[in-house]
This record gives sequence, C-alpha cells and structure tokens, in this order.
Amino acid sequence: MENVIYFDNNATTNVAPEVLEEMLPYLKEFYGNPSSMHSFGGKVHKKLEEAREKVANLLNSSPTEIVFTSCGTESNNFAIRGVLEANPEKKHIITTRVEHPAVLNVCKYLSKKGYDVTFLKVDNKGQIDLDELRDSLRDDTAIVSIMYANNETGVIFPMEKIAQIVKSRGIILHVDAVQAVGKIPIDLSKLPIDLLSSSGHKLHAPKGVGFLYIRRGTKIKPFMLGGHQERGRRGGTENVASIIGLGKACELAMNSFEEEMTKVKGLRDKLENFILENIPYTHVNGDRENRLPNTTNVSFEFIEGESILLMLDKYGICASSGSACTSGSLEPSHVLRAMGVPFTLSHSSIRFSFSRYNKEEEVDRCIQVLPEIIDRLRSISPFWNEKKGKNFKKVEN
Ligand code: PLP
Repeated sequence: MENVIYFDNNATTNVAPEVLEEMLPYLKEFYGNPSSMHSFGGKVHKKLEEAREKVANLLNSSPTEIVFTSCGTESNNFAIRGVLEANPEKKHIITTRVEHPAVLNVCKYLSKKGYDVTFLKVDNKGQIDLDELRDSLRDDTAIVSIMYANNETGVIFPMEKIAQIVKSRGIILHVDAVQAVGKIPIDLSKLPIDLLSSSGHKLHAPKGVGFLYIRRGTKIKPFMLGGHQERGRRGGTENVASIIGLGKACELAMNSFEEEMTKVKGLRDKLENFILENIPYTHVNGDRENRLPNTTNVSFEFIEGESILLMLDKYGICASSGSACTSGSLEPSHVLRAMGVPFTLSHSSIRFSFSRYNKEEEVDRCIQVLPEIIDRLRSISPFWNEKKGKNFKKVEN
C-alpha cells in the first residue's frame, strides 16, 4: 500500500529489503531439505548454520544455544512448559501482571492445572518491586518468567538486577525479549539469563519464525516432538528461508543500535513532545526513563483510543490501541490496568511505535493532523463537554 505511515512497529515490522534478497534463493532454486544427505541439501544446511551464528552473535552467545521456532509465542510456551516438564518436583512459577498473553495465558492455564503462580504487581510507572520478586522466590520455584520490555508501553525492566536476584537462588530465569531483541543491545555473556524468547517479525524478518536461546546446561524438555532437527530440541523441518532472513535481520540489527538511539528515538520524542506540549489533557503511560527508544503510549483524556485510530487510519496513519494481539476486544489493556491507570484513561490510550524505516516527514504529517482529530472527537464527547461546562461555571463564579 502506498502512502501508508506506519507507526505500529511493535505489532509487526516490514521485511528489510536485504532480508528478502537473502531469502529469495532459498525459496526458488535452493529448496533442498537441510537434513538430507546429498550436497544439494547440505548447501542449505550450511546456510542455516550461518544464520544461527548471526543470531547468536547479536546476543553474544553460542550458536549451539539457539533453537529456531515458529514465533515468539512458541518460544515462550517451549521455555515455560519445557522447564516444568524437566523439573516435575517444582510446582511454583513467578511472572508479572504485565506480560504478553503468550506468557500470561500459559501461566493462567498452568494455574488451573495445579501450579501455584505468583503474578508480580507493577507500580504506576509499570515497574516491578524487586523486593517483592526476592520475597516470592521459593525452594519449589521452577521458573521465573519476566519480559525484557513491555510491548504496550515500551517499559524496560531492570534485567541485570532481576537476573542477579533470581540466579542467586539458582532458579531458572526465562525472559520474553520479543520487543527488546534488535532494539537495544543484549549481551548474554554478561547477563545470566537461562532462556530468552525472540520473534523475527518484530525486527524486520518475516512472520512465522522465531528462536529460543537456551543457555548450555539448562534443564528443559523439547516442546515439539518429532525428528532430530535442532539437535532434538525442536522437531519439524526448518522454515529455511525465514531462518536465513532472521539471520540477516540480526546482522542488520547489530549495526543499527546507534540509529535506534538517535534517529528512531528522535522521531518518537518529536511526536511525544509535540502531543504533550500542544494537546491538553494528554499523558504518557509508563516509565519514560527506562523505555524502548521506539515506543510511546499516550492517553488522550475524554475520548476513546479506537475512535482516534479510525480517524488516523483515514489519513493512512497506522498506530495501535494497546497490544495488537488484544485489539478488537473492548477490554481495557491489562498492562495499563495493572499500572493503576484509571479506566477512562486506559480506554483513551494510543501506542505509536517507530522503526528505522520511518521518516521525519511522516511524523510531521501526523503532527499536522492529530490536533484536529482530537479537537473533533472531543467536540462530540459528552465527557469533554461536561468538563467544559464545569470550567465555564468556575469562570463565571
Ligand atoms: N511477547 C511479546 C512481548 C510480544 O510483543 C509478542 C507479540 O506482539 C509476542 C510475545 C508474541 O510473538 P509472536 O507474534 O511472534 O507469536
């Protein structure tokens, strides 16, 4: 689609042109099975292992610690359920109230199956209480699963401190890093995380591919049983072209961290500052200091986020109200609710998420149309008109 202004990069990203170019030969002429004995398959196997090396490099880890999966959701299921199966004597899980449904719903399911799950609370900035984490650890805790960065607000958890607390008790730490990988540097040679989930389509690789990092020595059972692929840890013929694309995307990401912190953050800040300074009754949700450089989540008081989205859509501007995976339902965001954001404010929130493919002109266009959209929607909002009525009274008195 031409002329689309895409500010919804936490939902998914465009495939980078270099990624597509790298993939195409493996969708056309090199279609061999990487497990085959013949050299036609062997060539594909070699390329697959090169991709694994590129992924491992991004995290400063070893290629043997990378297992390719179909998506972030599979990686999270693999990590949590695989650890529980390998450690059947332990029945306690710790996670947070603000995880993506790909962790939250797994934990809710497990609690119905007899596991005891602690859902850590967050404060009004979306940060967990490290003392609560420390106090929640038990001898029978099988796994702690805490996300690196929140998909709705971009809030980054203090992962070094979390890892230090969890590992001091020798407990397995899983991190859903789907929103963090490729946006901020992660060094697993220094950060003692045991399991880390990632998804290709959040970092300019295609949809339908992801990986789980498994630190050497971690006690975990395979989630997908089948052939001997991925060293017996994940059965199923590999999604070769997409894995090769993911490898290329990781290589590109390694060289883009600087751009994320300058250009991408600059675009985010320009839009955010404009909104806060020029549109009254607007609030940024989440810890602004510890945040992904590409994400802002803003509440526009007195109107519904969905109405803003529809109006923005008319101008070809794509954003999101809450997580892409939960939009379509009228439930307010569980993340904002957990942060104690009032019901009406959480209903009026919009997430803008940027990538290195966005341009300043696109932000300028958004800045041009947004005040008018908000004005128009507020003019028909009973809450806004009631507020205005009260103000008039005050002035008259
Ligand atoms: N975890 C987080 C934090 C996410 O943001 C998402 C997707 O939005 C997922 C997991 C699920 O990833 P996938 O869409 O690859 O299954």
